[in-house]
Amino acid sequence: MRPPATDRADTTAPGYPALPLSATPAQRLDKEEALFRLLEGHWRYLRNETVVTPVEASDRNAHAQGQYPFAAILGCADSRVSPELIFDQRQGDLFVVRVAGNIVGDGELASIEYAVEHLGVRLVVVLGHEQCGAVKAATENADLEGPIGYLVRQIAPAVERARSLPGVLLDNAVDENIRRSVHRLTEGSRSIAHRVDCGDVRILGARYALQSGDAEILLTLG
Ligand SMILES: [Zn+2]
Repeated sequence: MRPPATDRADTTAPGYPALPLSATPAQRLDKEEALFRLLEGHWRYLRNETVVTPVEASDRNAHAQGQYPFAAILGCADSRVSPELIFDQRQGDLFVVRVAGNIVGDGELASIEYAVEHLGVRLVVVLGHEQCGAVKAATENADLEGPIGYLVRQIAPAVERARSLPGVLLDNAVDENIRRSVHRLTEGSRSIAHRVDCGDVRILGARYALQSGDAEILLTLG
């Protein structure tokens, strides 16, 4: 991901003053502003120019008054793919749902719907990554039992699609799994689908590269 070349509002310019933690919903970022702010942070991360500092007492005082995240991230639980670090954002900026394989089950779907409907989030990112262990398990062990078997079954349809594609199975399965999760958000939630259709909300699917640190956008809805 690279930030757009065009300048936008002061709150999203390089070195921008961070949106106050006390920002009210009326001050919330729309989907374009949210994307720009996320990309700016990611660009800082890639250049080793991160600016986010540890949470201070004043921040915690603001947090106690409410939460106003500007984007929601549905990411893998992998320890190497931490959204706040990858996008250089503060505690309170991102509504993060993490689960192995960035799957969309009922809990993940409800969480993202809550962020959109009740927290006013206008940008959702499904963040998968290279060499995902959960996806790898789904390519190798389709008949596992128990909770991990559940996880593998959620990823299996993406793996099946990937088997028909040229190239490396795991790489293709990671991408297909990201695409599947993006579409499951709109297929499973009428309210999310409505907000995407009417242009209020954007959903991105992105793949994080472990070595380069880059998060490449694979698809966009809305
Ligand atoms: Zn993973």
